[in-house]
Amino acid sequence: MTSADDEVLAAGGDETLIFANATQIVTCAGPPRARRGAEMADAAAEHGVAVAVLGGLVAAVAPLADLRRTYGGAREIDCGGGVLMPGLVDSHTHGVFGRTRSDEQELRAAGLDYMEIARRGGGIHASVRDLRATDEETLFALARERLARLAAFGTTTIEVKSGYGLSLDDELKMLRVIDRLRRELPTRIVPTFLGAHEIPLEYRTSAITRSAYVETVVNDMIPMVAKNGLARFADVFCDTGVYTVEESRTILSAARRAGLLLKLHADELTSSGGAELAASLAATSADHLGAVSEAGIKALAQSSTVATLLPGTMLFLGKSTRAPARQLIESGVPVALATDFNPGTSPTPNLPLILTLGVSQLHMSASEAVIAATVNGAAALGIADHVGQIAPGFAADLALFDVRDLRDVPYWYGDNRCVATFVGGKPCHSSDLGLC
Ligand SMILES: [Zn+2]
Repeated sequence: MTSADDEVLAAGGDETLIFANATQIVTCAGPPRARRGAEMADAAAEHGVAVAVLGGLVAAVAPLADLRRTYGGAREIDCGGGVLMPGLVDSHTHGVFGRTRSDEQELRAAGLDYMEIARRGGGIHASVRDLRATDEETLFALARERLARLAAFGTTTIEVKSGYGLSLDDELKMLRVIDRLRRELPTRIVPTFLGAHEIPLEYRTSAITRSAYVETVVNDMIPMVAKNGLARFADVFCDTGVYTVEESRTILSAARRAGLLLKLHADELTSSGGAELAASLAATSADHLGAVSEAGIKALAQSSTVATLLPGTMLFLGKSTRAPARQLIESGVPVALATDFNPGTSPTPNLPLILTLGVSQLHMSASEAVIAATVNGAAALGIADHVGQIAPGFAADLALFDVRDLRDVPYWYGDNRCVATFVGGKPCHSSDLGLC
């Protein structure tokens, strides 16, 4: 696919472009909102068409000859017989962190449980200690390189959470790093404030200090984050041993009053009422759901909340539990897939691998998995009205894969078949360029 790579190097965002010679164009075209139930079964794969891009937006999907007539003088990009898809949307990551936690993987393999690893100084608190001790410039450089790896697998939109600071100054530090990534990287970045990722160690000594931290999040952090425009979403880790449903409700209600949209880490480890809370608050997404209850599934089905599943986390932790994707889809809950990219429980940049897990572990079809990482990923970020489809008026966020059919994307598991990505018609990543 050399010709495609050469064209990619020269393409520009303001030019009129025609993406030609794709074996298949997976448009995901349809309503500009989360897809539910049978709507997820059809990713709208088309043959014999090309894509015209004008001013950073998709202008038309039509036979090549028609586009050449309408857009004379357009630069043609040869897709080399590959599959062109909407750029993938990774709607759940913790992409800013300092050191890795590869040591914990070995400890887990040796049979140590989460509590013992935490007792030895590991877990989220290890990342908190490290984040606090690392300067902004270093954090930015590490994140830029890591997010470029995510982009190299076909991802064009990445949500990034704070949550390793857990103090006003350190959360703001993380969010400033995320904001700089948003301004300087070619990838779309969506920032989320996760000051309630854990109870910081210095506040865990009693119920009084614990509630003092919740008050700090509500009274100090949220107003400052909102005032400075540093986050689009607020998120809380609601689970047994972390934040209760009531604490989560208090924090998210304050976030909504401050103008933030809502997300929730819900029912990852135990059925603790997280899905029900997310639905009752009309949160944009409820994430994890490995242990969601029947009542939780019912509540989600009757809400606007997207269920974001993170099967890479279960795989990496060696757990046999799975989020009930089939039951969610068949109940009418819109399902998204994301990496949960983070140093402790899911250090993979490979969103196509998560599609593989969606098919092999969660029993989704390839089309459902693709919708889950495009349209529904965009819906989980509140941007499905302009991102996630190859359809007229949508952002020209595109990913070109060196495969012949959309089913090959989850099939070649672990491989990187992504040749190039474009964000708003501008080249974001190309396999010839290495990391962007
Ligand atoms: Zn997470």
